[in-house]
Amino acid sequence: MNRVRIVIFNAALGPLDYRVPQGMQVEPGSVVVAPLGPRQITGIVWEAERLPAAEVPDAKLRPLIGVLPVAPLKAQLRRLVEWTADYYCAPLASVARMVLASGGALKGPATMTEYRLTDHEPDRMTPQRLRAMDALQGEQATIRELSELAGVSDGVLRGLVSQGVLEPVEVDCDRPYPRAQPDFAVPDLNDSQQHAADRFIEAMQKGGFAPFLLDGVTGSGKTEVYFEAISEALAKDRQVLVLLPEIALTEAFLRRFENRFGSSPVVWHSSLKSTERRRAWRAIATPPAKGGAQVVVGARSALFLPYANLGLIVVDEAHEVSFKQDEGVRYNARDVAVMRARFEEIPAILASATPALESLQMAESGIYEKIELASRFGGATMPEISTLDLRETPPERGRWLAPPLVKEMEARLERSEQSLLFLNRRGYAPLTLCRHCGYRFQCPNCSAWLVEHRLSSRLACHHCGYETQPPATCPECGTEDCLVACGPGVERIADEVREIMPQARVALVTSDTLNSPEKAAEFVQLAEERLVDVIVGTQLVTKGFHFPELTLVGVVDADLGLEGGDLRAAERTYQQVAQVAGRAGRGSKPGEVLIQTRHPEAAVIAALAAGDRDAFYDAETEARRHAGAPPFGRWAAIIVSSEDEAEARNAARAIGGTAPHLPDVAVLGPAPAPMSLLRGRYRYRLLINARRSAQVQNVIREWLGALDFPRSVRVSIDIDPYSFV
Ligand code: ADP
Ligand code: ZN
Repeated sequence: MNRVRIVIFNAALGPLDYRVPQGMQVEPGSVVVAPLGPRQITGIVWEAERLPAAEVPDAKLRPLIGVLPVAPLKAQLRRLVEWTADYYCAPLASVARMVLASGGALKGPATMTEYRLTDHEPDRMTPQRLRAMDALQGEQATIRELSELAGVSDGVLRGLVSQGVLEPVEVDCDRPYPRAQPDFAVPDLNDSQQHAADRFIEAMQKGGFAPFLLDGVTGSGKTEVYFEAISEALAKDRQVLVLLPEIALTEAFLRRFENRFGSSPVVWHSSLKSTERRRAWRAIATPPAKGGAQVVVGARSALFLPYANLGLIVVDEAHEVSFKQDEGVRYNARDVAVMRARFEEIPAILASATPALESLQMAESGIYEKIELASRFGGATMPEISTLDLRETPPERGRWLAPPLVKEMEARLERSEQSLLFLNRRGYAPLTLCRHCGYRFQCPNCSAWLVEHRLSSRLACHHCGYETQPPATCPECGTEDCLVACGPGVERIADEVREIMPQARVALVTSDTLNSPEKAAEFVQLAEERLVDVIVGTQLVTKGFHFPELTLVGVVDADLGLEGGDLRAAERTYQQVAQVAGRAGRGSKPGEVLIQTRHPEAAVIAALAAGDRDAFYDAETEARRHAGAPPFGRWAAIIVSSEDEAEARNAARAIGGTAPHLPDVAVLGPAPAPMSLLRGRYRYRLLINARRSAQVQNVIREWLGALDFPRSVRVSIDIDPYSFV
């Protein structure tokens, strides 16, 4: 009898046993199709001894239907999946699903038809045809992609096909990517860069798990240095994964990569087209020596892909909170990356100018090797940072930029240098109200104000995506022309700049304006060619960009991040301001940073102004130690939600009422969440603060496992939470 245990892709069901029919070959890691009721589902063969499952007698087992034509998932990856599910209290199936992230790839090799222009003319030219033929010069893609590119309908293109103007080309869906060359353009490293690169290369040659914290000031050339480690991997035909926190950063990264290695890496993120996704997935599952992917740059989801021969993981801007996923499997890609390196027995490099306290602590305790780059590359100096006390020099009424900041911006404009204004708020204004009756526009699904987006003339909820047109009259009192925008978003700051400095060319950089790789590339090019004088942006502009003529950074409201009950507020403010400050003076001209604040005496702001990083980290470390907060203690959150407020409250109370009494675990709450209504669901939170000695995951599993809730109640567990809303 040949019985196997399968992790099936249904989070509600545990692993199930099946019979392997005669002649079918499976091993742990094989991706298979199995019957489930009347349906067929995908699953992964797992070591039965590692997964408890309901005992089903042999005679009752149903046979597997087939094995999918992909290499079995390696043991290291299966261990990573288990670790992630266990640590983050997530269903194994939900984690495993992230591995098989392309349905198309599982179907095996395939070809598809693409089309390209020939030199035929259509027998009758129409404006649409002309437009299509113009737009499609040099392009080759599927009809659907071409129609998007050209902005014409499929029908127009099919017409051109039938006339021979477009010709079909059969392409291999899995054609290999262009090869990167380790020695394409080798840079001259300075001494400290060379030392860092040598350490990485040594670790790679020696083999084995080796976690590094590459702690280098902004502009020190961290990228250049880890490129040397990538070069070593390329030379050995090992694969490299580079995790970036934002897709918007990939564009600049790709260009630097291409300059260094002669071709682009493979890109992975959630908005890939399904054909790109399958091609990338299959390339990743193939060793480089056999034409597979060499270097993959991606968002956090790239972490769980089935690399055939991974040799190095780099997490760039490793402190970024966007590495924490806050729905589905709530994992932190920075931490899982280190675990993956451990299972694969390879080096991992966490690069940052403002490392997370957790990472610094790991270095302090000798678990990570810390490599420092203390100065900027090529003689560029660190920017001069000072605070601008808004109580002493307030902006004019209805404005947000204080006169001293405006004066500096004008000076930059005169010298043809660039300024950057940072405000971490999308849209025009965070709140709209009626001047007459005080009515405030609120999201119907969330406890949040609607944010005015003037460029697209809508009021939008940033939590659920609800949108509506700003009405002409107040919905409450019916008065006309009575709506006022309260507070600034980046759009409003951009307007203010245009008003004060009409001759300045302003670029607005937010996820609303830089919402595609093309737009991001366009912005980088404009800024590099100095066709932009003032950049106004959200956190999107705080990292990665390197504009040598940018010499002034203005932080519009440094106090913004310090409000609210976020336990990491000070650290995040420090990181954001230090990162955005790091955009100033990266070339030969020195940079200056002005921080607008009402609390220049706050410890974070004072440390930033004094350029005293250690003072900030020391104070914050002490505060965390005192509070038993990470990295000294641990947090976990339990979030209870339901569309019915009473049901959510009752479930939360039931959880609170059965909280374990343990010496090393404290349970706070339940309390209504700060976002007490989110996407139409009422929410309650419990916060667990545990000593490091506590087995907090086991405690939570046992505690919640003993309770039963109606199906309409959702209980999520967030281990090492970043969001407290
Ligand atoms: P970081 O990521 O540490 O902020 P970057 O890697 O972006 O710094 O480097 C800053 C700038 O200095 C980039 O334009 C980079 O190309 C340049 N640079 C750094 N090191 C070197 C080097 N060894 N040779 C040439 N250019 C370098
Ligand atoms: Zn909403």
